[in-house]
Amino acid sequence: MGSEAQELHFLLIPLMSQSHLLPFTDMAKHLAERGVSVTVVMTPLNALRYESVLDHARTSDLDIHFLTLPFPCKEAGLPEGCENADSLPSSDLITAFFDASNMLQGPLEKRLEAMEDKPSCIITDICFPWTTDVAQKFGLPRIVFHTISCFTLLCSHSINRSKVMERVKSDDERFVVPGLPDKVEFTKAQLPQMMKDGPEDLEELLDKFKAAELSADGVMVNSFEELEKSYVKGYQKVAKKLWCVGPLSLSPGVDSAKLDRGNKSSIDPNQCLDWLDSRDPKSVLYVCFGSLCHVSALQLVELALGLEASHCCFMWVIRKGDHSQELEKWLSEYGFEERTTGRGLIIRGWAPQVMILSHPSVGGFMTHCGWNSTLEAVSSGVPMITWPMFAEQFYNEKQIAQVLQIGVSLGVQRPVEWVEEDKVGVMVSREAVQHAIGRLMDEGEEGTERRLRVKELGKAASQAVAEGGSSYFNLTLVIHYVQQMLSRKKSTSRLMRHY
Ligand code: UDP
Repeated sequence: MGSEAQELHFLLIPLMSQSHLLPFTDMAKHLAERGVSVTVVMTPLNALRYESVLDHARTSDLDIHFLTLPFPCKEAGLPEGCENADSLPSSDLITAFFDASNMLQGPLEKRLEAMEDKPSCIITDICFPWTTDVAQKFGLPRIVFHTISCFTLLCSHSINRSKVMERVKSDDERFVVPGLPDKVEFTKAQLPQMMKDGPEDLEELLDKFKAAELSADGVMVNSFEELEKSYVKGYQKVAKKLWCVGPLSLSPGVDSAKLDRGNKSSIDPNQCLDWLDSRDPKSVLYVCFGSLCHVSALQLVELALGLEASHCCFMWVIRKGDHSQELEKWLSEYGFEERTTGRGLIIRGWAPQVMILSHPSVGGFMTHCGWNSTLEAVSSGVPMITWPMFAEQFYNEKQIAQVLQIGVSLGVQRPVEWVEEDKVGVMVSREAVQHAIGRLMDEGEEGTERRLRVKELGKAASQAVAEGGSSYFNLTLVIHYVQQMLSRKKSTSRLMRHY
């Protein structure tokens, strides 16, 4: 364990959503490996779900703790127990979820006041502008941590600053994002809700996020420089201090923690490994749409028929929320599992994704393009079939399929707004699924080159987080920066006392 950070204590404040909690808890491990003492703000149910982080810390002698605050579900108008974005029953409750998250400020301040070993720094989610006040009140440096890429950050920044959207007449008109290193086009429809002419309160929220980012002492990103050099450079002109410290899911010597990341795995990991072990190298397509996307039963049936027609081996994760009676009835009446027996495995619930992606039998990943999933695939050198659904996923798709050329796009044109999947019917046909699988798993020139490119990036990712790598070095810079700020603060207060 490193000793570069003796006496430092970082307080991490993540949004209670899997795609934020996972990189934040991964960061806790990386920091603790360097000798930093880390406290992660949690809520009771999330603390239970992330127990494996503490187990790992105990067995590896890492100084990681949770500061558990009750999540004010009732006060914010959320159903009891709705402590994580993945348990929201409807998209109408997103605002209430943010309200509840904002209400954590008061209780957190009380706990900080009572704390003997006060933190030396706050690392906060971009979603919590109120951490600016907390940092000021306790005289702490504050660093914002982004769980998205520099490509996405620069795209959103350029779209906002250039006001290009004012010239776009319809939802489906294509426009070029100004000032990017590559020619990147989107339609207005594909942009995250917050970027469109949304309700005023959403626009206001976005402005608050931006202000809280620009006033922070620094900005960390879960990405690595070798993946998106020109976009990192581009965003360095926007953020005061920018450090890429990822991919944080790649942490040395934490294999056991790969099994129950964010949830208990719904499949016995040994069964999963046995199944993968029995397949040929690079022959399996892994299909998973993250922790939040809802896909209608109708669309899942179409996907199933595409998987069947592809004749490819597959491991398909059906999210708990999408695992409906209607789908189960179809699967059994059609005899889907019998028809694909020997080459297909369905996981109903939560899969050990990082473990699966790093298995040599996995040769492709059909993904909704969440940034964590994208980075995990890159880290394992696995090419992707891109099926973006909402939020910043269309940005990630562009980066994967067009800029990095490590994926095959399904050509989805419009987002499926959260929990509105039943209204849109089938967006991707079985033929499109079959065709994309054929292209991705193909061993011809195009497929081989794509595979080589992602393999190289996978190697670069491992090197970035290893000692001497760019992300490892950047984390050192963060630690030194906080140390410097603290010693400056100490000498100022000594001087003040003197006069
Ligand atoms: N994940 C997992 N098992 C699953 C589904 C998701 O471990 O069955 C993890 C996945 O590895 C990733 C995260 O959940 O780290 C999902 O984050 P992402 O940014 O990809 O998408 P989101 O959930 O925000 O849509």
